[in-house]
Amino acid sequence: MSAQAAPLPRTRHRRPAWHVATVVETRPETPNAVRLVLDVPTWPGNEAGTHVDVRLTAPDGYQATRSYSVATSDRGRVVLGIEELPDGEVSPFLVREVRAGDKLEIHGPLGSYFLWRPGQSNRPVQLIAGGSGVVPLHAMAAAHAAASDSTLFRLVYSVRTPAHVYFRDELAALAGPSFTVDYVYTRQAPPGWGGTVGRLTRDSLASTTIAPHERPRIFVCGSTRFAETVAAWLLDLGHSARDILTERYGGK
Ligand SMILES: Cc1cc2nc3c(=O)[nH]c(=O)nc-3n(C[C@H](O)[C@H](O)[C@H](O)COP(=O)(O)OP(=O)(O)OC[C@H]3O[C@@H](n4cnc5c(N)ncnc54)[C@H](O)[C@@H]3O)c2cc1C
Repeated sequence: MSAQAAPLPRTRHRRPAWHVATVVETRPETPNAVRLVLDVPTWPGNEAGTHVDVRLTAPDGYQATRSYSVATSDRGRVVLGIEELPDGEVSPFLVREVRAGDKLEIHGPLGSYFLWRPGQSNRPVQLIAGGSGVVPLHAMAAAHAAASDSTLFRLVYSVRTPAHVYFRDELAALAGPSFTVDYVYTRQAPPGWGGTVGRLTRDSLASTTIAPHERPRIFVCGSTRFAETVAAWLLDLGHSARDILTERYGGK
């Protein structure tokens, strides 16, 4: 499900376009994901939550395009976090084959509803991520901090193990009175972890998220199954469909 957002305030329009990106750095982000740092001199900037389409072209002309959220962008440096799906067409190439100096075609910035803008609302914000779905939510938390916005932000982040946390250091650095992270470890927790290990449930979601009566704006991102399951629980807990925005990365 994906609810309609309230109309967003007017902002400088950044028209999507094709850009040639040069890979500056590719580094392991988790055991099955990389962080790609791209140099895109023509990048117009982007709002937190937007994505790009990456288009690959084979020597025989065959093309494949997939969407990837922007984790951060700063003066033409665009950072993506890409998880490898073992039977996937595009992600194994991006994770295993791409090297610094390679050129990629990207189209963006894209997306007009799964966005967080500073000053948009003083209602609290609840972010809920599954795995690589944290990428656009990290962008929102970073934008929130950069704007010194005092809106309360909370992130519930479901990952397999501590090693599977994307942007671990960045999230730790962002944490403070107006931004907290609650981890849900589905397979293995860090030493000394006091909580339980296992999948997010309706009850654990209820206990770690902002209560419905506080009317949080909620951004959910992850696999299709994760996003749909969480959105259904949120409705069940009493949140309004108008307040729930989902970004589904695909899969079942
Ligand atoms: C708006 C948007 C933003 C996205 N941002 C990111 C991002 O920041 N990082 C990232 O890693 N991915 C992101 N994705 C997912 C990405 O676009 C691709 O779908 C993913 O990389 C798989 O592509 P592939 O070619 O490797 O797999 P495909 O060849 O397309 O699919 C292979 C198999 O995997 C299944 N599958 C596809 N996607 C998923 C999934 N997400 N989870 C589980 N199974 C899946 C398919 O159903 C199929 O069975 C985003 C998707 C969208 C729509």
